[in-house]
Parts: sequence; C-alpha cells; structure tokens
Amino acid sequence: MSELTVCAPLAFEAWALRRGLAGSGGGIRVVRTGYGPKRAAAAAVRIAASSPDMLAVAGVGGALTDDLQVGDIVVASQVTDGTTTVECGSAALLAGELRRAGLRVQTGPIATVDRLLRSGQHPELAANGAIAVDMESAPLLAGAGGIGAGGIPAVVIRAISDTPGRPVVSPSIVTGGIAALRSLRQAAPALARWAAAVGPRQVLLASPRSFCAGVERAIEIVELALEQYGAPVYVRKQIVHNATVVADLEQAGAIFVDELSEVPDGANVVFSAHGVSPEVRTEAARRGLATVDATCPLVAKVHAEARRFASDGYLVALIGHAGHEEVEGTLGEAPASMALLESIADVGRMQPADPSKVAYLMQTTLAADEAAGIVSAITDRFPSATGPGSDDICYATTNRQRAVRAIAAESDLVLVAGSANSSNSQRLVETAERAGTKAYLVDRAEDIQLDWLVGTKAIGIAAGASAPPAIVGQIVAALSGLGEVRTKDVVVATESVQFGLPKELRQRSAGSADDN
Ligand code: SF4
Repeated sequence: MSELTVCAPLAFEAWALRRGLAGSGGGIRVVRTGYGPKRAAAAAVRIAASSPDMLAVAGVGGALTDDLQVGDIVVASQVTDGTTTVECGSAALLAGELRRAGLRVQTGPIATVDRLLRSGQHPELAANGAIAVDMESAPLLAGAGGIGAGGIPAVVIRAISDTPGRPVVSPSIVTGGIAALRSLRQAAPALARWAAAVGPRQVLLASPRSFCAGVERAIEIVELALEQYGAPVYVRKQIVHNATVVADLEQAGAIFVDELSEVPDGANVVFSAHGVSPEVRTEAARRGLATVDATCPLVAKVHAEARRFASDGYLVALIGHAGHEEVEGTLGEAPASMALLESIADVGRMQPADPSKVAYLMQTTLAADEAAGIVSAITDRFPSATGPGSDDICYATTNRQRAVRAIAAESDLVLVAGSANSSNSQRLVETAERAGTKAYLVDRAEDIQLDWLVGTKAIGIAAGASAPPAIVGQIVAALSGLGEVRTKDVVVATESVQFGLPKELRQRSAGSADDN
C-alpha cells in the first residue's frame, strides 16, 4: 500500500494536521520537518532516503495579495525559492475538494523565502506572480522528490495566518494563527482523499471533441461585433452553453440577457447559436434594434423544415427537450402546427387532424439512439410519417457521441468537459453511461471529485461541442499531477466543416480591410 508523507514544518502545524487526519485510515505519516529553508532542506534529504510514494507539505503561510483573508487556504500551483521551481499539477483537484469541504480556497504560486517578510516586501514578491509565502515548501519538494522534478506526486497547502494588512509581526498574529490552524485541521482530510486518488493512468482522448463549427462561428460573431461596434454588445441568452466561454466574452464587454426587454433602445444585439423564434425577430425589428444572428446554420435548417412542413399542412412533431432554447425557437416557427415529443409516451398523445400528414424533426443535439426509439414509435403509429431530408442531429453531435462510445469501451471512468446546461454535453454523459461506464460532466478540472478517481487505471475524456479545448488540457494536466499519464487519441472522425459569417459582419470586415 502506498504511503502519503505529510511534511509539517512546525510542531503546532503537525498537531493540527494529525487531529484533522484522525479517522482518515492508515497509509499517512505526518513528519515534523523544522522551521526555515535550511532545516527543510535537511529534512528533505532524510525523507528522500525513505523513498516516499507521495508528498504533501502543509502548514501556515502569509498572504501576498489583499484578496486573501486570514483562515483562507492557498493550494500551490507551483512553489519556488527563486532558483528552484516545482510544479504541483494536481492543485486544481485538491482546491476543488477543499472548496466542496466549505473552505475558502485560492490556487496560485507560493514563494519560499529565507526570513520573515518585513512590511513593504509583499508587493515585490507578488509582482512575480506569487500569492502566498512560506519558508519551507520549495526545498522540501525539490529535495524530497516532488513531481515537478520528474519525481513523485506532491501538493502544498498553506493556511493563511497573516496578510499585507495584518503582518506577521503584529498583535493580530495570535488570532491569525488560531484561524489558520483551524483551517489546516479542516483541510487535512482532503489530503487523505488526494492520496487515495494518486496513481499512474492511461488517458483516452475522444476525438472529435470540443468546439464545433457552429460554436466557433457564434463566438467569432460576438468577438467581431465587439470589435466593430464596440462594447457593450448585448447577447440574447448564452451565446453557447458554456460558463467559461460566457465569462470570457463578458470580460471582453458582452452583456448576456434573457429577453430583448433587457436590451436598451439603440443597442446592438446578437442572437445565440441556438436560434430564436420569429416572434423574437419581430420584436427586435419593432424596437429598431441592430441585430446579428449567430444561429447555427444547422439549427436554421431545422427551422426551415418546420416552416415547410407546417405550410404543407403537416402536424410537425419536434423530438427534443422542453425548455431548451433551440426547441423553443424551433417551436416558435409554427406553434399551432407543432407538438413537442420528449419520450415515446408522448407519441401516444399526438392528435393529428389527418394521420397521413405527420412529420417529425429533431433537436440537433439529441442522443441518436434515444431519438431513434421515438422515431420508430412515430412511424409505428403513423406509417406515412415523414422525416427531415437529412438527419437533424448534427454532424458534431453524432461524431462526439461516436467518440465517447469508443473511449467508454476502454475506460473505467469518463469525464465529459461541458456545462450543466449544455444539451450535447449531457448527452455525452448519458451515452457513456449507456455503454456501461461511469461518467461525469465537469465544467473545469476543479469539478472532478477525487473519490471518482480512486482505483481508476484508464480515464476517458470527452468534451461537448461548446466546451473550450483548453479545459481538456487542464484536466489532463491535473491528472498528470497524480502520477504518470499516458495519453491516447481515439479518433472516430475528422471534421472540416466551416460556416460563413452573417452578412452584417462580412460587410463590416470588408469595409475595415478597405480602410486600411
Ligand atoms: S452542435 Fe451542431 S447544431 Fe449545435 S452549434 Fe454545433 S454544429 Fe451547430
């Protein structure tokens, strides 16, 4: 059985950690390593001689930035003493675990210094990117074999006892120290859970994954609108269903609203990739709003099919999920002639005026196997029912579902990068589960719960069409902090689809190019 060595520089830190770890089971030893970098370096030599399986350094530390408070926990993304830097790849995983335990947590570099900071020294260290300071972590990790040196998995946590506003040499150090030790004790069980998740793994990367052509186009439309019209640009609904994408565009000056009533007169507004009903377009025109339509062309195709079938006198069954923006927009094309079907049971409730005039369409992001069951129930009941000319479930959804099925077959666990409101990402989780593999949806690496990873040897990673590719990189990096990771791309298709921009932005782009 592997053992976690927890390095606690001072006696009171070791005491708090032992109390916090009581009841966490065996396989953990807390070692008092001594105060300051020299004692830490000497302790590291002794620890290295015992060939530790994994390391944690835990103690109190000082904040370098004003947004950290006494009692907060800093999880080191790296530790450095200016000459040696050790990366702590799994910081995001431990930080997520600590947040879920109710602690206030920040992740960032920790600087190891050789003497207590004097007042006024904080900005100098913070300018190099460090958010907290200690006197032992860098020599402990570097000397004892932390993973950044090609060695064993390692983490560092520091509970904040002093801040730039409450320096270490001040009367508040006693209360600060007590608060920090309390947090350290509360944080300790997460170190045990981190240790249980440590191990080498194979990572299977589903391909294709992440952005599809419709999502890339929608994001580019908002970016171009910001560039060409200036901030703010209003976007009706989330441009695509991903929290990171939305946060990044908000930073750039986009304002996301639920309804046009929230958009001021005279503003520029972008319609999201999921499409809008004719009623929304009419309202925008009535108010004289300048609109740019980021509806994915493949969603627009389903709208056109709905209009065509409805005008030919069909009852149009839309297979999809109630409340999803794409479904609301499509139903809005012919509300009196359309019915939403969410399940096979809904087929029995259809009441067409003419049973020979039934058509069906689909939300673009459905699970193919689920939709097939509903289609066959429709054609069983209405043998002459007619469907779309080509499949409504789009190429990106189909490819990502095939890819997740391929990795699920070889994985103990599948992680799907995507937001909870992303339909296609949710379908990837369900597809992996239907293949018999445990699967979870995660917006970012921090969302991965350490107990999901315990005992896993092969982890599949997929990403919904709205999830940025960088998230997958962050997840792989976080898993690499738990032990050696061998990655394998499982490619089921290659994609080369691209969509053109709406004419408003094309004209503007051409105009600005001419101006230059
Ligand atoms: S998932 Fe499909 S329909 Fe949706 S934006 Fe991407 S390409 Fe378009």
